[in-house]
Amino acid sequence: MDLNRVNALLADWGEPAYRRRQVADAAYRGLAASWDDVSVLPRALRARLAEAEPLAQLEVTGVQRAADGTIKAGLRTRDGFPVEAVAMRHRNRRTVCVSSQSGCPLACTFCATGAMGLGRNLSAGEISEQVVALARLLREQGERASNVVMMGMGEPFLNYDAVLAACRTLNDPGGFGLGARQIAISTAGWVPGIERLTTEPMQVKLALSLHAPNDELRTTLMPVTRRFPLARVMAACRSYREATRRRIFVEYLLLDGVNDSDQLAGELAGLLGRDGGFHVNLIAYNPTASEYRASPPQRVAAFAAQLARRGIPASYRRSHGQDIDAACGQLAVSGAAELRRRRRRRTAPVPPVSR
Ligand code: SAH
Repeated sequence: MDLNRVNALLADWGEPAYRRRQVADAAYRGLAASWDDVSVLPRALRARLAEAEPLAQLEVTGVQRAADGTIKAGLRTRDGFPVEAVAMRHRNRRTVCVSSQSGCPLACTFCATGAMGLGRNLSAGEISEQVVALARLLREQGERASNVVMMGMGEPFLNYDAVLAACRTLNDPGGFGLGARQIAISTAGWVPGIERLTTEPMQVKLALSLHAPNDELRTTLMPVTRRFPLARVMAACRSYREATRRRIFVEYLLLDGVNDSDQLAGELAGLLGRDGGFHVNLIAYNPTASEYRASPPQRVAAFAAQLARRGIPASYRRSHGQDIDAACGQLAVSGAAELRRRRRRRTAPVPPVSR
């Protein structure tokens, strides 16, 4: 559900103000899946809400659990678009990785979601609800969602308003109640989004998927570079840092023989500068249908050493849930076929809500 919409409805219907609290408590603390289960609300109001704004609008189509504790949920919107969300375990944290779009139009050559194209933007309710769906699965094993990253399917800044509205609901102490710093948005370098985030009062974290230090190489990996060359991306990042005083997390996927040479590490260091404004996360490539291979461990170590020598803080991010295609860039390995079917059926009527 969209919390703003429900609050507006309650006001329209002349419901007392405390209903808002009851609804948010039931949805984000109780993790209720249907208005029928929210017994503090009068029966007639539950029915009215169910009609106007169903509480759970994403149907869970499948749940997979990996050996390392990663949980992946396959979900489906009411009009049939596939969505995926993942919960990962890092020490005592449980990070939920959510999708901002069904599919993605940016076509990064190493990413499975990129290969499927764009289905549609998700609504704010559909984005925050992925966290609730995973929180329900985590609760079954006595765990809680502690962090959220917008790093699932899609480019968050192509769906800016819905993504930020979802972040506000997740951050709202009367909503899901996560700290703003526990929420991160990851972008492929969509400059207008970086610029808007710069002026946002909420202090969510920003991550930039860089993957190459020059336009020529980056264009072969991320065609979005043609639209927004690195000079513009880096200028937007610098303004963001000056305005917010927050550092930016740079993601750099290491592809064997493609972007992992010592020379490129030096070039990357030069691009980022040594003022400590960036932290580089080196990421292992997770196999998709593309022809790339992950860099071997010695290469990863040498690349990291080059960055360290140039004073750039870097860490190596282990991959999660590879065995269930839940790792970065592997989402939608299964969703792609569904999205193709969905596109063929585009003229079909909207299916009823399934429970
Ligand atoms: N569009 C946003 C968020 C989604 S992608 C972005 O580009 O940041 C989340 C991260 O997964 C990005 O850093 C992306 O480059 C990375 N990724 C995509 N495919 C991958 C793969 N096959 N292996 C490892 N990481 C991948």
